[in-house]
Order: sequence, then C-alpha cells, then structure tokens
Amino acid sequence: MPRPPLAVLTLSLVCGITLLFTPTSFGQTPPDQTAPVQTTPGQNAPVQAAPVQAAPVQSAPGKGTPEPQLSTRDAAAQQAATAASSFDQVIDRAVEREHFFIAQMKQLHPLVETYLQNLKQDKEIDAPVPTSDVYFLGRLDMSEGTDDRTFTSPTTAGLGKRMLSKLKNVYSMRFLPLGFAQMVILDQDFQRKYYDFTFVRREFLGEVRCVVMDVAPKKDAGKGRFLGRIWIEDQDYNIVRFNGTYYPHPRASYYLHFDSWRANLRPGVWLPSMIYSEESDLKYRLGQTLDYKAQTRLWGYNLKDLRRNSEFTEITVDAPQAVQDQSQKAQDASPIEAQRAWERQAEINVLDRLQQIGLLAPEGEIDKVLLTVVNNVMVTNNLDIQPEIHCRVLMTTPLESFTIGHTIVVSRGMIDVLPDEAALAMILTHELAHIVLGHHLDTKLAFNDRMFFPDERTFERMDFARDRSEEEAADKKAVELLNNSPYKDKLGNAGLFLKAVQTYAPELKNLIRAHLGDSLLNGNATKMSSLMTASPQFDRKKADQVAALPLGGRVKIDPWNNQLELVKTKPVAITTAAEKMPFEVTPFFPFLTRVGSAAQEKTAPGAEKTAATPSGQ
Ligand SMILES: [Zn+2]
Repeated sequence: MPRPPLAVLTLSLVCGITLLFTPTSFGQTPPDQTAPVQTTPGQNAPVQAAPVQAAPVQSAPGKGTPEPQLSTRDAAAQQAATAASSFDQVIDRAVEREHFFIAQMKQLHPLVETYLQNLKQDKEIDAPVPTSDVYFLGRLDMSEGTDDRTFTSPTTAGLGKRMLSKLKNVYSMRFLPLGFAQMVILDQDFQRKYYDFTFVRREFLGEVRCVVMDVAPKKDAGKGRFLGRIWIEDQDYNIVRFNGTYYPHPRASYYLHFDSWRANLRPGVWLPSMIYSEESDLKYRLGQTLDYKAQTRLWGYNLKDLRRNSEFTEITVDAPQAVQDQSQKAQDASPIEAQRAWERQAEINVLDRLQQIGLLAPEGEIDKVLLTVVNNVMVTNNLDIQPEIHCRVLMTTPLESFTIGHTIVVSRGMIDVLPDEAALAMILTHELAHIVLGHHLDTKLAFNDRMFFPDERTFERMDFARDRSEEEAADKKAVELLNNSPYKDKLGNAGLFLKAVQTYAPELKNLIRAHLGDSLLNGNATKMSSLMTASPQFDRKKADQVAALPLGGRVKIDPWNNQLELVKTKPVAITTAAEKMPFEVTPFFPFLTRVGSAAQEKTAPGAEKTAATPSGQ
C-alpha cells in the first residue's frame, strides 16, 4: 500500500519550486509562454485577472506601455546644460523641465504614504502635541490626471480608489489622500504666462546649487495655481523643492501648505521623495480649526527591478548542501527536510511578494545591523537555529514587527522611534522567541496561487499576527533570553519605551497599530510588559529622559530602489521637553545630492560602512 500523504507532499514540494517565480512575473513582465499566469486577464483565470485590472500600477510599466525614459536626459536637458545666462532663460528652462516631469510622473506609480498628526497646545510642555492621527498608504496614479487638490471635497476619485482596502477604515474624511498626493505637483499646467517670478537668491540645498525664486499666480490665472517659493538646480534646471500652497482656493474648501522635495534618482531626473505639510489655526468651518502636521513619503519608483530573478540563487539560499547532493545523485528530501523546505517555500513566497509590491525593503545594511543584535542574544543563549535567521525591514511607518518563518521583520517606523540598542533587542528578541518556540508560518502560503491577489489586498490576505497564547509565550521566553544576553542590564530604557507607547497609544492609534504583524499593544497591555516594572517613571516633561524618538530620524529611503540606509546625523543636545517629540512627525530637511556625485558615492548602498547599531544619542 503506497502512502499517499507523503506522495502528495513531495509532489507539492516539487510544484512549489517549479512555480516559484510565476507570481513574480504576473502583471510585470512581457507575456511568457511558459507561464499560464500571463494569459489574457479575465478569461478563465479570475484570480489572476483581478490584479491586472485593479492595479494598473503593476501592468503599466509592463507590456505595451513604453518604458519611462528615465536614464537618458532629453534634448531640453542637454540644451540646458549650457548654463542659462539670464533669469528669463532659467524660468523658461524650469518650465520646460516641469512639463517633462509631469509626463514622466504619468508613467510612474510610486507608493505614497502619508502619516498625519492632529495637534493641540499642551500647556505643561508649552508646545503642540498630537491628539489623534491618520495613516494612508496608496499608489500614485497620475495617468488620468489629478485635478482635485482640496481636502474638503467629498470625492475620492483617482488615487483614493486605489487605497489599500483595509486602510479605508482608518482614513478619515477630513483629509483626502489625494490632497497630499497632489503636493508632488507644482502646477499641472505650469506656464510662464500664469505667473510672476521674482529672483530671491542663489542657495545650496545639500551639495546642489539652486536658483531660488518666489512665484505668484497672475490675476485671472485660474484656480489652484501655486503660490510660494521654488528652488531650481542650476545644471538641468529641474525644480527640486517648492514650498507654499495653491491659490486661490475654491469656495468652502482650502488648500494646505506644504514643503515638497524631489530627489535626483536617475541622471538628470528629479522625482518627488518627501513632503512635509502643516497648518496651524486654519479656520475651515464655523468655529472649527485645523492644526496638524503630516509627512508624506514616496518610494518604489522602480518596482519592476525589485523582483528576484535568479531562481538558482533562490533555491540554494539556505540549503547549499542539499542542492549539491541533488546534482550528484537524485535524492528525495527526507520527511523532515521536506517539511522544512515546505515552510521555507512559504517564507520565500511571502517575502518575494512583499518586496515586489514595495512594502519590504530589499536586503541591505540595516538587515545586518538587526541581525547583529539577534546574534548577540543567540550566542549568549547558546542557540543554534536552522535554517538560519534573517532580518528584514518593512518600508512603512506604523510600529510593528513579526516573523515570516525564520525571517524577522521590523517596520521602518519602529527602527526610527526605538531609543537605543537594548530597546531594539527587546523587539527583536520577542520575535526570536516565536521562532525558538516553533510558532509556525501558515504554510498555506507555500502554494503559489495564494500569492495571486491585487496589491491593494495585501493587508487582508497576509496576516502574521499571533494569537494571545503565542504572544504570552513569546514574551515570557524573550525575557528569559534577554536576561541571559548582553542587554540584560540595559533594559530600563526598553521598559521606558513601552511606557511611552502605552501613554501615547490612545492618541496615536494609527501609528501604534500593526497592519501585517503584531502591535506593541495587546488590548491595553504592552508587549513585553514585565520589562516595565524595572524601568523609571515615564515623564514627558523631563528633557533628559528620552523614551522614544521622533519619526524619520534613523532610516533613509532611496525612493528609486527602496534601499534603506541608516542616517548619519550628529546627536543634538535636547534643551527642552518640547524638543523630545516622541513618535512625532517633523519637517524634512534632506541633504540633496546629484546622482554619481562624491557625496552620493559615499552613502551609496553597499559602500564600505561601519555597522553602527542604532543608538539614541
Ligand atoms: Zn509576537
């Protein structure tokens, strides 16, 4: 009597490996005869058709549509390279470049994340503090144009429709995401005849020398023109920063103020990377005022290159021995090996998927920093875990962490706000404990068809949250591991961080909330709460007590290829409690560089670097 279950298992395993790269190619690469996935959308493959239609984002750069020509400078730029001799010429060239920019943006579909905090004045620390927050993540699609710049308009056309569906709930009608996405554009139809330009000065933004101008719409130039200041780099005459608002606003709605930055991502090409927006005391309805600050980040401009495309490296990743054996003589995996390979398959499927849609950063230097911390805990606890543990970073802001098989994932926002290495160790060790305790990834994800869903449904289809009993077990195990680690005497600040989380949780619901994994909170209790008992009293008024850092202080995004790097900023002495700004949004002030410049070489991913672990100061 044969043993069907085993046969099924082996067969599925083989299928798993052969099909490994099928999902990566859907909607992104030209039709491939070997991949049935690529058949015309809507025929007999409803599940596969959906993403193609719902996510024009993915299909747009693929078949049929011409590639955005980003790597070559156009004629205008070449011409502009011979320095513009007069102020008039600078304006002409900047206007021309801006039209080229809009044409480019119509073909690009970066992810757009806006995190906003509503504010009120706090008398005790004499500064505005957050009272509530809003989070939005979507994909920019300007192919149909975006003419709605107002935030009070009830329409959510365009970008709004493409919101990741679960996030609809957290997004409040008070602010339209479209309103923030709009801030990547100065003016859809930027024409000299609509504006008055005034030369201000020349100024360096980072290493990039700019011509600074004030720009004001002429009378009768129409609604929603830009009013403010622009910075034009003096090589190709791209606008690299603009700061102001749209004007005049329609009746009963308002335009917000913003500071919009672009980064030089390809030779001669500057694309939107970050936008800071704030309003204080804007009266927008009878008796109601609007006080808020918001950060918008864009990334994932070049998603098609984020696919893994070498299946051989893929399969050898964790089992070089096994592959070698295979090449020598054909050999079936033993049941235990098959089970491990099966779980690893699910893990790779999920990681690939998250990376392809731009939610997971490609492997990089920060992963190594995280892994160093994990290793510190493992070595002192004599842990030898197979397959070996990896660490990865989720690109998003909300504070969360989770495991996918033997991969520990921590969000960018979490890395930003953790006060020191011991606090980072606390977060990582909790996840390590899940792995040590053998809490498994749902292996249904090892079937590749499970990955065929539209990007927008990622947060529905992927859920790595653990149940309460697994959470409690992991907390307990993690404390045990930490007490046996180099961090055991430094956990006071980690506990303090948890107290800060607990204090701010009611106001910052959308930050202290997980989308894919586990939140720092279990109901009202925090993760790893036993560490809180040994930590000092949390005091938001004490200037020298740093329990959590502001957002955006540690991790820098390359919006083109999603590579992350640690920001190297000198520690700044905090003089007042108001400057601590735990978990808060702050303005952006990036050091602009040119592609291929010395400054950029120095910070390029892969360049020689000291693996500095994050530390608060
Ligand atoms: Zn957990």
